[in-house]
Amino acid sequence: MANQKVPLFSAQEERELRKQLSLLLCCSQASQSQDIINQLLHFYVPDKTKKEPSLTRFRYFSAALIEQLIILLQDEQFLKPSRWTDFFELLNYFPLSLENPIPHHLKETISSSANDNPFYQSDNFIPLQLSYLLAQLEDSDTAYSLLKQLKEDISITTSFFHLIYNLTLARLLILKNKRLDFTELWLKLIYKYYQEDGSETALHLILQWQKMIPWGKNASLKKKVLQTYSSDWKYNKTLLSAFILNELVTLENHLIKPEEKIRYVHILLSLPSSYMSFEQLQYLYFFAGNYYSGVEQNFPKSIRAYHHSTYYLHKSWLALQNLSQFLRENLSPEQMVQIMPYLEKKVISLANQINLQNSTYVDTLHKNYLLISDLYHQVEALSITDHLTGLKNRHYLHNNLYHTFQLAVRHKVPISFAILDIDHFKQVNDIYGHLAGDYVLQTLAELLLSFFRKSDVIIRYGGEEFLLVLFDIKKENMLKLMEEFRAKIENYEFIYQENKFHITISTGCVCNCFACLNDTALNSYIEKADKALYTAKEAGRNTVVCFTE
Ligand code: GH3
Ligand code: MG
Ligand code: MG
Repeated sequence: MANQKVPLFSAQEERELRKQLSLLLCCSQASQSQDIINQLLHFYVPDKTKKEPSLTRFRYFSAALIEQLIILLQDEQFLKPSRWTDFFELLNYFPLSLENPIPHHLKETISSSANDNPFYQSDNFIPLQLSYLLAQLEDSDTAYSLLKQLKEDISITTSFFHLIYNLTLARLLILKNKRLDFTELWLKLIYKYYQEDGSETALHLILQWQKMIPWGKNASLKKKVLQTYSSDWKYNKTLLSAFILNELVTLENHLIKPEEKIRYVHILLSLPSSYMSFEQLQYLYFFAGNYYSGVEQNFPKSIRAYHHSTYYLHKSWLALQNLSQFLRENLSPEQMVQIMPYLEKKVISLANQINLQNSTYVDTLHKNYLLISDLYHQVEALSITDHLTGLKNRHYLHNNLYHTFQLAVRHKVPISFAILDIDHFKQVNDIYGHLAGDYVLQTLAELLLSFFRKSDVIIRYGGEEFLLVLFDIKKENMLKLMEEFRAKIENYEFIYQENKFHITISTGCVCNCFACLNDTALNSYIEKADKALYTAKEAGRNTVVCFTE
């Protein structure tokens, strides 16, 4: 366990590794390159012929090699233009067939690389694709037997075939735990393609290499390797950056924070979709959907993302169908039996993804609903208008009137409060119906609005109670005004449907109030008005009473 934390290589050994690798890249003869590769492998296991290195050592060694190579290849001395990167985009479209069209620009790449012979006319191509796919599906035996049959021919065909052949071989070596051969193969491939095609292709190959290593518990090494690609590579929106970001995004959660992940996801989703497989796109949109709903609580955005995710899930499903059809048509029945468990594993994982996605989607809709109903209640609480009468409500009194009160206090303007309550209002409801009661409340609100000044505040304080706040008015005037309004209502004829009737109101008021700076003071004035109202009711209703101590 201790050697998981302590690096396996000293600084001096790392320098030596770097030196050997730079010699490898500069070396012009293939025979020399093999010597250098042998020396490099010597670091790994002192006697290369003895036995395979432990998994931990293998991971550390691979990480060290990859890291040093990336640093070297990004050095100006080693930068060479390349023409071969489209090939890596093409891998997303396997299996390639006439029924399964690939983007036009990629078709041209393939044609020219196959010396103007369309790739799919080659006898080798179907078995080669098959073995590549079987290796992806981890059926190493069937893949290996197919690959062996190809071996003779493949050496004389184009780079295109050579590369698929070797990518397949590399995967098979790692599946069979041949770690030394695996590493040797990669060093050879990097050497060959760097010489032939430049540093970008070599970097692509390094990513493929890095992708095939079972990092397991040492996934933090993988992150370290990925970070060695400078930030330029990450953000330059090329196929290479798509590779790097995809690898970063699929790191385990403890290695990468969701905020970092979503940044990468945004970049990835702005790239051409042909840079990624359907499964990758499905994962990215699904992650985005979860992020928007969970962290940002942006449900419309999250639902859009889930829609995209479902679309690519569907595409993944079709791709899997194509794949299994391709395998059925081209494998022997025995080989097909062998591959079935791997195909089933894929089917189950996609089916699980569908279930997961559906339940998350429903969950998000539910959360969205809860949020909306919560917001609705909040808005209702924030609303300062009474729905029935259109008058201001209690919230207005407590939240919006303070600065007016403050102004009044500063200018020593006296304030008066009055509470108006309809007498025996229950009887109106009981005799004429609740709608008639509503009509009375609405009409009374209109009468209040037309009777008092614009600067007076009229609030529907409770069911059939109204609170008036009047500024700059003397006690006598206040009482006169209230009496006038009381009389007006007493004489007013309410007509609802066929019914004509009268109502009366009782009024309690408190005058000459000066200090209204907080809720307690405000409440005490309202309480006083309320006491006066009670006295008015006690006195037989239809009257105005002013509060006295
Ligand atoms: P009092 O003279 O003592 O004030 O008698 P009251 O019947 O007016 O008093 P009480 O407080 O007992 O009853 C008030 C009634 O007002 C009860 C309730 O049904 C009615 N009410 C409250 N809000 C509304 C409303 O929005 N519409 C209608 N139609 N009635 C309402
Ligand atoms: Mg009442
Ligand atoms: Mg009443």
